[in-house]
This record gives sequence, C-alpha cells and structure tokens, in this order.
Amino acid sequence: MTGELYDLIIIGAGPAGMTAAVYCLRKGLRTLILSKDIGGQANWTTLVENYMGFLEISGPELMQRFEEQLKKEKATVVIDEAVNLEAQAGVFAVTGKTTGAHRARAVIVASGKRPKKLGVKGEEEFKGKGVSYCSTCDAPLFREAVVAVAGGGNSGVQAVLDLLANEARQIYLISDEELTADQVLAEKIIDHPKVRLYQHSLVTEIHGEQMIAAVSVQSRKTGLVERLPVEGIFVEIGLEPNSDFLQALRKNDLGEVVIDCECRTSLPGVFAAGDVTNIPEKQIIVACGEGAKAAIKAWTYLTQK
Ligand SMILES: Cc1cc2nc3c(=O)[nH]c(=O)nc-3n(C[C@H](O)[C@H](O)[C@H](O)COP(=O)(O)OP(=O)(O)OC[C@H]3O[C@@H](n4cnc5c(N)ncnc54)[C@H](O)[C@@H]3O)c2cc1C
Repeated sequence: MTGELYDLIIIGAGPAGMTAAVYCLRKGLRTLILSKDIGGQANWTTLVENYMGFLEISGPELMQRFEEQLKKEKATVVIDEAVNLEAQAGVFAVTGKTTGAHRARAVIVASGKRPKKLGVKGEEEFKGKGVSYCSTCDAPLFREAVVAVAGGGNSGVQAVLDLLANEARQIYLISDEELTADQVLAEKIIDHPKVRLYQHSLVTEIHGEQMIAAVSVQSRKTGLVERLPVEGIFVEIGLEPNSDFLQALRKNDLGEVVIDCECRTSLPGVFAAGDVTNIPEKQIIVACGEGAKAAIKAWTYLTQK
C-alpha cells in the first residue's frame, strides 16, 4: 500500500462528518474526508426549524454553510464510496470504490443512513424512471401527475404534502398498517380530495416500459390486488444505516455501529458519530455534537498513542 499516511480519515460528509472534520483540522490533524457526497440527508430537508441559530433555513443551505466552514479549514475531500475498512500493520486502510486504499492512524465513521427499499419487482429497473426516494428533491417533477407514496409514517405523509405543494393531480398513499405519522401531519392529508388512502396494504410490483406506468397494491386483509396507474412512486418506508462495509465493527440488530459515550467503536482507533451509530436521537444538531465529540476523542487517542 502506498500514498500519504493521514492522522485521520473521516468517512462521510454529512453534519457529523463535516463537524468532526472542522474540529480535527483546527487541532492540526492531517485529515482526509472520504464521502459519497457533501451534506448527506440534510440535503433532502426542505425546512430546518430546530437547528440553533437559524429560525428557519433550508437543509441544502445549511449544508452549504457547513461546506464553507470546511473550505475555510482547507479540508482535503475525496468524493468516493468507502467499501472496506480494516486494520493493517498498526494503521487503518479505508478502501474507496474508485480511489483505492487510503491510510490513517485513526478513523471516524460518519456514514449516516439511507432510504430503505421496498424490495419488489420493478424497483431497481425504474429507479430514476419514476421510482424516487426523495420527495424534497423530486416532487416538483410530478406536477399534474398521478403518483403513489409507499409509507404511512411521517416521511410518507411529508412526501404527500410535498406532492400537494407541487400540484400533483392525484396521490395514493399506501401504508402497510394504519398511518403512524404524527396526528398534526396526518390531519393535513386524510380528507384531502386529491389523496386516496390504502391502509393495511403493500406495494407488490412496479410496472412499466421506459418509465413507470402502474403499481400493484395488495390488501393485507383481503389479499386482493389492485393495479393503480401512476407516473411515479415515492418510497418512504424508513432509513437504514450505511454500515455494510464495516464488517470489522460491532453492530446492533439494526445494523447501527455500537459506540460508547466517548464515540469509541469495538475497534480501538475507530470512532463513529451521527446517524450510523446506536445513538437513538437522529437529528442534525445531535449528529454535529457527536461529530465534535468523536473528533476530540480521536485527537486524544492520537496524542496519547
Ligand atoms: C427527510 C428528512 C428530513 C429531516 N429533517 C430534519 C430536521 O428538520 N431537523 C433535524 O435536526 N434533522 C432532520 N433530519 C435528520 C438529519 O438529516 C440527520 O439526523 C442527519 O443528517 C444525520 O447526519 P449524519 O452526518 O450522521 O448522516 P448523513 O446526513 O446521513 O450523512 C452521511 C454522509 O456519509 C456519506 N456516506 C454514506 N455511505 C458512505 C460510504 N460507504 N462511503 C463514503 N461516504 C458515505 C453520505 O454520502 C453522507 O455524506 C431529517 C432527515 C430526513 C431524511
């Protein structure tokens, strides 16, 4: 293995990773940030009203401000996907899908979460051709369209609201159980003339040719299958951690990286922060706090080593 030996590699540049990076750089650590993108999930948020210092700000704008702060510290950022992390001869090797191995004396994992998939026929084929996982990003593309939303939690209802705001013609909201969204959100859509609810129902297949043309929905109560003509479907059934590549670390049943109160993982020298971890509060401000904490603990580890 060749190339520069960094003090620290941070995997992920969402709120946790960017905050960790600013702290590490200000402590003079030679830091590499390896991330699939800049901003993470916060980029999918229309409006953030609970990040201190801003009465309201869009998610992408908040992340732009984070990025400015990162640039001020002259961060080295490589845009790539980490596919492996292992300890090798006293250092850590993080392998990027296209950039190969990067080495460091310590690592902070801040790879966050990603949307869960339905796992039905047609989902992969029509990804980007009508199947979307981000209503904030894609609802404007469905003006005057008939669209399905899978998921009866807050994200599903938020997707319906995004579609209504963008004047979709008709929306089918498909939920495997009763709606579980907060009442204050659910009330906004339950009796809306453009919204039709399918509770206790599952999306079983996505159909089309070049683009989506329909989805099959099966009632869990009667077993009956209905084919609904739609131009798109938003899959909003929750999130799962980006932790598949972290075989070296202990994870919980949800696949989250288990950390202690000092952000230490099961592998000494590897720290973790934010939504990828077992810390239950999944919020921007919490991810930032955890990122700062992981950075300080990594710095202590490196200086004591
Ligand atoms: C629709 C929506 C609305 C939300 N609204 C709010 C809100 O109003 N207020 C609030 O406080 N919170 C909100 N949240 C939650 C908040 O966005 C998250 O808690 C926060 O973004 C977590 O930050 P993170 O840095 O831990 O992870 P993420 O934001 O998920 O960032 C992870 C980063 O890691 C990168 N990455 C992933 N896998 C790899 C890999 N293998 N290799 C390299 N890089 C990788 C990603 O590209 C990304 O840059 C919302 C979330 C969603 C989905």
